[in-house]
Amino acid sequence: MKTYVGKPVYHGIAIGQIRILKKEKQNVHRSHIDDVEQELARMENAVEEAKEQLKGLYDKALLEVGESGAAIFEVHQMMLEDQDYQESIQNMIKTQQINAEYAVAVTADNFANMFAMMDDDYMKERAADVRDISERLISILTSAQSEEVNADEPTIVVADDLSPSETVQMDKSKVNSFVTRYGSANSHTAILARTMNVPAIIGLEYDEEIDGKRAIVDGFKGELIVEPDEAVLAEYEEKAAQEAAKKQLLLELKGKETVTLGGRQIRLYANIGGISDLQSVMQNDAAGIGLFRSEFLYLEKDHYPTEEEQFQVYRSVAETMAGKKVIIRTLDIGADKQIDYFNLDKEENPAMGYRAIRICLKQIDIFKTQLRALYRASAYGNIGIMFPMIISLKEVKQIKEIVEEVKAELTEQGASYGEVELGIMIETPAAVMVSEDLAKEVDFFSIGTNDLTQYTLAIDRQNAKLDDIYDSHHPAVLKMIQMTIENGHKGGAWVGICGELGADLTLTDTFVEMGIDELSVSPSCVLPIRKKIREHS
Ligand code: PEP
Ligand code: MG
Repeated sequence: MKTYVGKPVYHGIAIGQIRILKKEKQNVHRSHIDDVEQELARMENAVEEAKEQLKGLYDKALLEVGESGAAIFEVHQMMLEDQDYQESIQNMIKTQQINAEYAVAVTADNFANMFAMMDDDYMKERAADVRDISERLISILTSAQSEEVNADEPTIVVADDLSPSETVQMDKSKVNSFVTRYGSANSHTAILARTMNVPAIIGLEYDEEIDGKRAIVDGFKGELIVEPDEAVLAEYEEKAAQEAAKKQLLLELKGKETVTLGGRQIRLYANIGGISDLQSVMQNDAAGIGLFRSEFLYLEKDHYPTEEEQFQVYRSVAETMAGKKVIIRTLDIGADKQIDYFNLDKEENPAMGYRAIRICLKQIDIFKTQLRALYRASAYGNIGIMFPMIISLKEVKQIKEIVEEVKAELTEQGASYGEVELGIMIETPAAVMVSEDLAKEVDFFSIGTNDLTQYTLAIDRQNAKLDDIYDSHHPAVLKMIQMTIENGHKGGAWVGICGELGADLTLTDTFVEMGIDELSVSPSCVLPIRKKIREHS
């Protein structure tokens, strides 16, 4: 028996057989071809086949993890069709009379090196994507089988790293957990893992010889126990059974109120990235949506989404939620979420740079388009709008003026809209410090603990090296939360939490005691929190 320790990203117990996924470099040999036309046709067929595969993966991901997780496959389809990439391969085949798979491999190296050398972190990541699509093409051209998890017994997938696309591709009927050597606990990939409800550990240094061995994943402690002895196995089988029983119990909480033993109601909402997350919201019985990260709508497209495109999405979410609250956050891009067509300058400090509401207040046409779509959709349900990265009263006043302009324009044009609650995210220490004044201007606050931790502790949430000191339980962060709740109430605003900390069961009692009005969490965390609140005396 040997125990490896990493960082837990999602709780749960899994017992199964380890399968190490290796990204082996495909061995491609150069060979001379006589018939160039035939080789170009072979290449064209491979591209068509790759497109089909990517479309299939997109559809699968859309069903399983929603639009935000599926978007990666659209990016891959676009990269596959990129003219420079295609021309490089075709030219090599024509001028050097070489086989297609070799031309793909060389082009992949050239493009990946070019991306890797760029300063921009987002562009650097494209190196992995170009390799990904090239490997797909080579597999098709050489008829190689891609590594799939095809085991009959439950499998623990272990890998150096798993991209969002690989995580999505896992067949969850076979894979019961995953463990990686790299990755950051606060990246959007980790958030995706939590949405998928798979016990997961990152940052775990493992030996290759564990492949094929029986093991336990303890997603609470972040432990991978390989070849457990009988006593340990029995202990964990018992724990896994308890977990399953808990899941059953939680199912029984569906339809129940989220109310403390003392009779205090807490609104328990869910966080979503798009329409396809709604199924999970329903299954887990959230009372509303406390954070719709609308930027995914922009990330999925290669152009600014039009007012009509946005309206259709917001309307559909509002209608599906049938009168339950739907809080949509306006565009929050910049920092780790970059979009090509915004043409943002490269910055030294993107997390503290031109992002979120700062972009909206400078590029007002983009902001107004979104606000018009949101207000029009408000005629179809119970929409709330909140604004990210606020630091000052001045910003809030400016936002409210723009909102009034939008409403006046809509009225003039005869478009109808409903009552909309306006709120702001409290995710900067500045906003906390002036929260009493801010509260007088808005209907609600939603505390973004992911960024609030980042800015309070001055720790980049994307930096895996700092995961051990990125501590959302730091007294400074908890005091900020307490202060926000008190000041919010003093100024007449209700206060919720929509950052990851809102789902931390060890703090639920604390938040209730602090006077929190609402918690918005990943759909899979809704019922455990309801249980905890119902036990609060
Ligand atoms: C947060 O910062 O806590 C938050 C909810 O927003 P995001 O994670 O999208 O930055
Ligand atoms: Mg944030």
